[in-house]
Amino acid sequence: MLSAAAASPTLARLFAWTEKQKLTNWAGNLTYSTDRVQDAVSVEQVRSFIRSQNKLKVLGTRHCFNSIADSRDYLLSMKPLHEVVAIDAEARTVTVDAGITYGQLGPYLDGKGYALHNLASLPHISVAGACTTATHGSGEKNGNLSTAVAGLELVTAAGDVVKLSRKNDGDTFRGAVVGLGALGAITKVTLHIQPTFAVRQYVYENLPFAQMKEHFDKIEASGYSVSLFTDWQKQGINELWIKSRVGDGPAFAAPDEFFGAKKATRNLHPIAELSAENCTEQMGVSGPWYERLPHFRMGFTPSAGKELQSEFFVPRNHAVEAILAVERLHDQITPHLLISEIRTIAEDDLWMSTAYKRPSVAIHFTWKQDWPTVRQVLPVIEKELGPFQYRPHWGKLFTISPAVLRSRYERLPDFIELAKKYDPTGKFRNDFLDRNIFAS
Ligand SMILES: Cc1cc2nc3c(=O)[nH]c(=O)nc-3n(C[C@H](O)[C@H](O)[C@H](O)COP(=O)(O)OP(=O)(O)OC[C@H]3O[C@@H](n4cnc5c(N)ncnc54)[C@H](O)[C@@H]3O)c2cc1C
Repeated sequence: MLSAAAASPTLARLFAWTEKQKLTNWAGNLTYSTDRVQDAVSVEQVRSFIRSQNKLKVLGTRHCFNSIADSRDYLLSMKPLHEVVAIDAEARTVTVDAGITYGQLGPYLDGKGYALHNLASLPHISVAGACTTATHGSGEKNGNLSTAVAGLELVTAAGDVVKLSRKNDGDTFRGAVVGLGALGAITKVTLHIQPTFAVRQYVYENLPFAQMKEHFDKIEASGYSVSLFTDWQKQGINELWIKSRVGDGPAFAAPDEFFGAKKATRNLHPIAELSAENCTEQMGVSGPWYERLPHFRMGFTPSAGKELQSEFFVPRNHAVEAILAVERLHDQITPHLLISEIRTIAEDDLWMSTAYKRPSVAIHFTWKQDWPTVRQVLPVIEKELGPFQYRPHWGKLFTISPAVLRSRYERLPDFIELAKKYDPTGKFRNDFLDRNIFAS
């Protein structure tokens, strides 16, 4: 049944989800626990909708694999709010509506002569959803996407509009940026921008693990953004992707052979058997940042589609040890895996960021879509990575106990206080947040 407020003609139209068309996340592994979805169309409407509800969850582009965005009550979709609000050339920032995707924003910024510092593997995700879950790309010197945030506008549980900026709000800002959707509905995000730049992408095949082990630092330092893809078989990295900025420091020389790996002679998908049609251009062809930093192109299905994902962040100084620990489990992992990716992320100061106060290496798993089996394998990997005090990706699948998860975030008590300030009754909380964050 609709609430009176949602059915009001003064509020925006409701998505026409029928009983038969249950709303799922992008991967289809999660059916949201409600089919009541309200479209956000303006900040004023978001304010009155939030005031009218006791419980709701804000939805971005639905790319999380776990239930962090789920609600049993109401979903408020920010997707229709996707305009660029303003570029501030002096401050070098762009302000956007929260529902805009990186795929929409990238070409716009480039057309104005600007770029973002980094992007995730796909451009299809919303800026607010990505930043609030600490979504990342790769690059030793690149913080995750939330580190580009200079300011936020959010609507609190009371329907008030709060504006926070790195410049004026210190600790509150650092607590709010990776807010896990727990503080309110983000309606606008201000991001740092820089002059546009071009990138060349090179792919190498079959990097021996022995070389990776010996030269990990050099390999990671070889490009602006570096990804290692492996299925953990044959003691090797299947593909090494190096994204090199053009005209900014020494260019990657792109030799035919690089630490025993061979330069690819055609575009490749990270899962070599799949067509590279949906992948960004490789072979060293120079192109704009927004068409090279992601692995996947807008307008195509990213990754494999029918899949699950998990990812674990360990301190950068334990990178090789942690990778070798996972490699020892190859016989348990590979049968259920589509591909793994290894990336590096610079440390940051955002309380709930997976890279909070530690330069990190992220070990990612794209699984076949078989949750009963993946659920058995995850604890084995998590046990092996336990000594490295890993943090799981907020938007992907994990089985770590909530108590251990909470112990990995030293500012968690402050984050809970901050969430209570903006949402005293837990309007924006769901089962995921209650279990993993708020349960004591
Ligand atoms: C194919 C694929 C590839 C991926 N690649 C990467 C990658 O390279 N790197 C990486 O780190 N992650 C990656 N991810 C994970 C993805 O980036 C995150 O799951 C991200 O959160 C997706 O954003 P979204 O808008 O879809 O969020 P949703 O799933 O819609 O929501 C996620 C969370 O954000 C909150 N939220 C969303 N919008 C708002 C808002 N406006 N205000 C308040 N809260 C909000 C929701 O309440 C929820 O808690 C990938 C996912 C897929 C499916």
